[in-house]
Amino acid sequence: MTVIVPGQTIGILGDGQLGRMMAIAAAELGYKTHIFGQDKDGPAAQICTTMTVASYDDKKALKKFADSVDAVTLEFENIPLETLRFLEPLVPVRPGQKVLQITQDRNLEKNFINKIGIPTAPFFNVESLDDLKEAIETIGTPSILKTRRFGYDGKGQFKLITATQAELAWSEIGEQDAVLEGFIPFELEISVIVARGINGDIETYIPVENRHKNHILDITLAPADVETSISDQAIEMARTIAEEIELVGLMAVEMFVLTDGTLLVNELAPRPHNSGHWTIEGCSTSQFKQSIRAAAGLPLASAERHSNAVMRNLIGEDASFWQDILSHPEMSLHLYGKAESRPGRKMGHVTRLFPLDTPPNI
Ligand code: AMP
Repeated sequence: MTVIVPGQTIGILGDGQLGRMMAIAAAELGYKTHIFGQDKDGPAAQICTTMTVASYDDKKALKKFADSVDAVTLEFENIPLETLRFLEPLVPVRPGQKVLQITQDRNLEKNFINKIGIPTAPFFNVESLDDLKEAIETIGTPSILKTRRFGYDGKGQFKLITATQAELAWSEIGEQDAVLEGFIPFELEISVIVARGINGDIETYIPVENRHKNHILDITLAPADVETSISDQAIEMARTIAEEIELVGLMAVEMFVLTDGTLLVNELAPRPHNSGHWTIEGCSTSQFKQSIRAAAGLPLASAERHSNAVMRNLIGEDASFWQDILSHPEMSLHLYGKAESRPGRKMGHVTRLFPLDTPPNI
């Protein structure tokens, strides 16, 4: 397995804030970065050594990119599989096709998770309105219809309260392949970020609690306020998933915690995750640096935290209060360099640390 050494170049597919923070982490480790994406002035373009602006199906640009980098990683999971198939014979791609194939498709993802003995919400594969009607008979309501592919931040989802909404739900999600999921009255949402190196070593960050506003992550509390047995079980599940999917890289495992302590896995994201931004300040090695270590084939670092933390996203106009935030010396401000603020757009985040013996407090 190829190890990429400092001085060499890591290619990153995707050009958003995750790519930006990965490029910063790569630079700290002495690597150059080459971003492949579409936004020449975007968050990652401002940081990287080289940028290619091209579409993911531009074979000529991909070949040139592959020739100029020593390993490839990614900052979002919806890179076309065909792109990875093209790159993989030319350069190590971490994480690779198998991981992307499963995590791009909610039906494959949930089947995979169940097959390895880990529970999810009950779900039913839907490829037509008739399937949806059958799914509603099986799963019942309330339930959530989610497109199998390309969903994020609650997009491509419709919550059904009654069976009479089948036609509406099917049309609202654009009559695409989907899954119907039972609505879970969870107590809280948590996530575990797991990294797996080329030698199979695994490191996991502490489970954190995630609170959403308008379907977008608002706040992460590290650690999640759950019993040790639940925390241990969440970590074990994340480890099992990383092993079984043969991850080389970093992955976030989102879970629901039910009132009786049961854990259900909701979603996998094979890249640094918004719920791991606190690790930049809260851990000696952030999720971003860890993802670069894994992609480069370096040994992983400890994912131990030295502090508790609260991370709050700056969405849309929130970022215009950057001066107020700076007047609080205990707060770490991160802005992503996005020129235009739009409602619902992630513009930056703020992290505040707490001692390990103090619960994170908002
Ligand atoms: P997802 O795109 O699957 O991460 O869903 C976005 C958000 O919708 C989750 O973070 C939950 O807050 C909520 N959600 C998703 N699926 C369910 C479910 N089956 N039951 C209840 N809430 C859900």
